[in-house]
Amino acid sequence: MQPMTTTIGKIQLKDKVFRPYLSEEIIFSAVAEMAEKMNNELRDKNPLFIVVLNGSFMFASDLFKQINLEAEISFIKIASYQGMRSTGQVVTSIGMEQDLHGRDLIIVEDIVDTGLTLHWLKSNLESRGAKSVEILTMLRKPEAAKVEVDVKYVGFDIPTDFVIGYGLDFDEKYRNLDFIGVLAKHVYA
Ligand code: 5GP
Repeated sequence: MQPMTTTIGKIQLKDKVFRPYLSEEIIFSAVAEMAEKMNNELRDKNPLFIVVLNGSFMFASDLFKQINLEAEISFIKIASYQGMRSTGQVVTSIGMEQDLHGRDLIIVEDIVDTGLTLHWLKSNLESRGAKSVEILTMLRKPEAAKVEVDVKYVGFDIPTDFVIGYGLDFDEKYRNLDFIGVLAKHVYA
């Protein structure tokens, strides 16, 4: 990526400094572990994976290739006025037209922060007649939780810091990094 300069152990993105946090290899082994667990636990099911865009696209793609069930995949996008982290007030959604009646759903998220987004989404999907709704997330910030959300499959529990890469953005950029970086709180020259 052009606007990024890398020195040992830190990455400068405009005025922000990030440091490498989870490498591509570590992410891949977590994805493989999650896929294997799901392949075993959902063996006789025909689950529908509901991928929450934009941040989950890369994770969902890597994971879905390793799922050997009769699974289907669908994509949704949801948005709120002030950012769901603070309000949980979802005002627009796309891709939510599908008939979910009697389906076993797996929500695929990039990161669970306050949990407000998933709290809303899970109850919305349940109210539409789904047989079951489970949650799968690449990352979770347990200390940031504002509501309790039952997450069945978690890649990594991480501290309450801002992360980018592997689908996650900073100002809509840097989703294309193949690793996950964390915002450095204290930066020394
Ligand atoms: P929640 O509703 O759980 O507070 O927020 C979930 C959404 O907030 C995620 O799907 C993601 O879009 C965004 N988010 C939360 N924490 C981070 C972070 O550390 N980095 C980035 N890039 N997005 C985040």
